[in-house]
Amino acid sequence: MNLSVSIQVENVIKKFGETMVIDGLSMDIHPGELFTLLGPSGCGKTTLLRMVIGFNSIDGGSIKVNDKVINNIPVSKRKMGMVFQNYAIFPHMTVKQNIAFGLENKKYSKGEMERRIDEILNIVQIEDFKDRMPDQLSGGQQQRVALARAIVIHPEVLLMDEPLSNLDAKLRIEMRNAIKSIQQQVGITTIYVTHDQEEALAISDRIAVMNAGVIQQIGSPKEIYQRPVNIFVSKFIGTSNILKAKLVEVNNEVQMELNDGYREKVENLSKRAKVGDTVLVSVRPHEFIITEEKDGIKGKVLNSMFLGINTHYFIDLGLDEQVEVIQNADIVDLITPGETVHLKVKPDKINIFDIEEEKTLI
Ligand code: ATP
Repeated sequence: MNLSVSIQVENVIKKFGETMVIDGLSMDIHPGELFTLLGPSGCGKTTLLRMVIGFNSIDGGSIKVNDKVINNIPVSKRKMGMVFQNYAIFPHMTVKQNIAFGLENKKYSKGEMERRIDEILNIVQIEDFKDRMPDQLSGGQQQRVALARAIVIHPEVLLMDEPLSNLDAKLRIEMRNAIKSIQQQVGITTIYVTHDQEEALAISDRIAVMNAGVIQQIGSPKEIYQRPVNIFVSKFIGTSNILKAKLVEVNNEVQMELNDGYREKVENLSKRAKVGDTVLVSVRPHEFIITEEKDGIKGKVLNSMFLGINTHYFIDLGLDEQVEVIQNADIVDLITPGETVHLKVKPDKINIFDIEEEKTLI
């Protein structure tokens, strides 16, 4: 529908009074991609999104579209559409009137308006509801109307602020699939805000993980999940078990040694890592293997939860260290609380961080 645009955010600063909310933030968003801002509540996601569309002023740095600075361009001239958490559709207008609203001051002929509305009704799949009032629609249908209204003007950029938060869990999954497929079909450069890491993994081409107004990492969902750059990202995306270990050298290779002497080879260590260092090791619950061999990490099962495909085990490794382990329920028979088990770690999946700054050593 559009020739997609790129967005450059360069050293952007936002203060509310004396409080620094966005502190010199930079990111490049590629044409046509679905780019997600992900982070805990209050980290500045909405503030940044509102700066991109122009609802918030910019206190420093610049925001560019196709390398042209837009800092001082008013909202109405920015060619951006936005979808909000609470839909913000007009309750006294039908679906069709809501969608037509944004087109009315654009001086289209009646035929062109009808054509555009029909096209959008079809894309977001709400043709059957076009004459209904919003209170006759489900939450998911209302969000489709909001999306239709945002894209009917053929904006260059689509901004979505927690669009699925008001929907129940099942509808959220259905709608995130719908949003992803509509976004791909339209090919519009999109910035999506959420605090839900699973939603971000499911929907995004790339994700920027934010904390306290600062980007921690930008990458594809897979990169961010598999190679987090620091402990914050490792813990915020998915579940991570963080254990203390020591780097030791055995037969000319570097290994990490856990408290009870269990060792595993580590590859691709950065030059910053030194043998003898105490480090933090992060292991995903499904990256442990429960083994019959006695040379694994010894632990006592505290609790087990059978969840159909997988069973979750909470295992005490001693010395205040507890881990969550997920095993395929068909492969590992249910182990009852109180039993002693041995764990191994899949070595290629290990992430290692320094203990002071908690940054990756891989
Ligand atoms: P959430 O997921 O809860 O919406 P968020 O990451 O989108 O959080 P923002 O809404 O951007 O966070 O808020 C970032 C910080 O800026 C918060 O500490 C918030 O209290 C503060 N803030 C936001 N808007 C204003 C304002 N208009 N005046 C003063 N402080 C504000």
